[in-house]
Amino acid sequence: SRDSVKGFLKRNLFVLFTVAAVVLGVILGYTLRPHKLSQREIKYFAFPGELLMRMLKMLVLPLIVSSLVTGISSLDSKASGKMGMRAVVYYMVTTLIAVFIGIVVVTIIQPGKGSWHSPVAKGRNIEPVQAMKLCLTKRVVAETVEEMVPGSSSSAGVNALGLVIFSMCFGLVIGNMKQQGQPLRDFFDCLNEAIMRLVAIIIWYAPVGIMFLIAAKIVEMQNLADVWSQLGMYTMSVIVGLLIHGLFVLPLLYFVVTKKNPYSFIGGLLQALITALGTSSSSATLPITFRCLEENNHVDKRVTRFVLPVGATINMDGTALYEAVAAIFIAQVNDMDLNFGQILTISITATAASIGAAGIPQAGLVTMVIVLTSVGLPTEDITLIIAVDWFLDRLRTTTNVLGDSLGAGILEHLSRKELEFQDAELHNSVVEEN
Ligand code: ASP
Repeated sequence: SRDSVKGFLKRNLFVLFTVAAVVLGVILGYTLRPHKLSQREIKYFAFPGELLMRMLKMLVLPLIVSSLVTGISSLDSKASGKMGMRAVVYYMVTTLIAVFIGIVVVTIIQPGKGSWHSPVAKGRNIEPVQAMKLCLTKRVVAETVEEMVPGSSSSAGVNALGLVIFSMCFGLVIGNMKQQGQPLRDFFDCLNEAIMRLVAIIIWYAPVGIMFLIAAKIVEMQNLADVWSQLGMYTMSVIVGLLIHGLFVLPLLYFVVTKKNPYSFIGGLLQALITALGTSSSSATLPITFRCLEENNHVDKRVTRFVLPVGATINMDGTALYEAVAAIFIAQVNDMDLNFGQILTISITATAASIGAAGIPQAGLVTMVIVLTSVGLPTEDITLIIAVDWFLDRLRTTTNVLGDSLGAGILEHLSRKELEFQDAELHNSVVEEN
């Protein structure tokens, strides 16, 4: 029991370090801000944070490949098919709920209907440009499908979606190779184990990196008072929506399905959530998400390996919610009343835009274009919200990671029959061999 006390202390010590890193980062940032550092000085100052980003990103490619290949090839095709279906349903349902919450919140708060916005909207004449809208949506859809097939293995490295699809296919094939595939299964299993050991080392450095990531951002950001007066209500709407979704709706769903305490589950995820806050990237956070779920929350590795890489790439509740709020905010600024059909269009395109967004900083801002064009809103109005995007990006990334992680817990529970069956099979074959 001394070991378990030690383990407990160690885990919580890390969490404590990570939380302290955020606080210290904020303090450090605000202490240095009045000194008006030059661009060059800021760059040096941001260096320790940049290093953490690079370390995490370095691990993402081998981690995605090894976890998906082992995850999928270690399940029989029926079990992986079922788990895959459930994952897709969970992703779709939670993303749509997030969009719905966003729409309700932004409609109630009405951040775009204030006196300060009228100069922006005045003199602008919006006409839905049908032809352009159609061709843009088509292009985005076509590009997403194209990315699913990486084309060459060197391009797969920068294209997470392609990497995910390729690794899934590879895992399926190896799984079907039965005995002959065993060396490859062992290889990828071992690779995965080795990567996770690297993660265990990097995690020691993470608090330092997070502290500097946050401090550097505070040093270089615009004057908050200016931004607040223009975009305060909009920022509030996104935050309120994310809080409702992340702290109430998703935990409730987790509780209803698993009958377990969602907040102790979330407690185990704290390091991943803070890393997401620090890095603004669900992909870069992926190694830490894996570690939190497997080490702290003891989620079955067959589940995490399967669903986490996919979730980090396509399941983005926070991004979807933000896209819906932003689009409706821009409509309000432009004095455009949306009818039910247009709101429905926004829901669908916001979902699509969140799936299409890569798990990298501010990807959601780029895919906003699909949502805006779908209802004929001026895409140049994205510039209205850029000033606060870095901040909202951190919060929505945290929500994205939370959604993926609670999803892993929920999917583990739903798939427990298949997992137990697989365990029994494995046990039987071991007994037979002896
Ligand atoms: N930065 C987000 C993420 O990595 C994506 C976004 O820009 O919304 O999850």
